Amino acid sequence: MFKRSTVFTFLIILLSACKVQNKIAIVNHEAPVVLQGPAWAAAWQQKAGEYKALCYQAYNLAQMRLDFLLQRQYNKPVAIVTDIDETVLDNSPYQVHQAIQNAEYSDSSWIEWTNKVDCDTVPGARSFLSYAKSKGVAVFYITNRLEKERAATLKDLQRWNFPDATDDHLTMKTTTSGKETRRKQVADHYEILLLLGDNLSDFSEVFDKKPLEERNNNTENNASLFGSKFIVLPNAMYGDWDGAIYRFQYDLPAAEKEKIILKSLKKY
Ligand SMILES: [Mg+2]
Repeated sequence: MFKRSTVFTFLIILLSACKVQNKIAIVNHEAPVVLQGPAWAAAWQQKAGEYKALCYQAYNLAQMRLDFLLQRQYNKPVAIVTDIDETVLDNSPYQVHQAIQNAEYSDSSWIEWTNKVDCDTVPGARSFLSYAKSKGVAVFYITNRLEKERAATLKDLQRWNFPDATDDHLTMKTTTSGKETRRKQVADHYEILLLLGDNLSDFSEVFDKKPLEERNNNTENNASLFGSKFIVLPNAMYGDWDGAIYRFQYDLPAAEKEKIILKSLKKY
């Protein structure tokens, strides 16, 4: 019916169309992914030996301090208070996922992630907390994850064999992200020897949602507590540190936040 050459030409055109479509599909898939901001920091957290080294440094120091502090006698049983995210559990896959979706943080997407019970552990966290437990130190987890994340959070801690991963040693966020009231509940019954966290408000209310300058001044004024009572873990992906730059106006569009951050930076 058709000449052989006509059929051949038709096939070439069809194949070319498929190829073009294919190419467009690939470009469309790849175009929105820009490795910057939290995703770039997630690359550092997942790949840099330096990130791991900083975590080990923090936990090695914590162990030295604990050994020292345990030489004294206390009137109450002793405890360590620790944050969870980016202190004992690693959520960098969430940041990468959001970057691929070209999306910022949202409670719903975060809960979708934590429900997967798929966090890695922060290097050094498990062995330090197990060591503390072996020395008779209770571990309390104070997190700003929500009550509805409790079951998944416990599961994640338990599957990694974190000590004291039980309901009565885990406090979630209820009304406020500030942790002072929750720390006091522990301090009523325990002598808190060390506090572990990646965000300054994991340590003291003097850092809670404070303007940038005040928060940095408070850091300077409490310099001697870092590495002695407060053990800080690195987190370049998120935290009050970036919120403070745009005055915790979390509802601003991402581009607006970036503009404010860029404007605030030293340059030449
Ligand atoms: Mg944290």
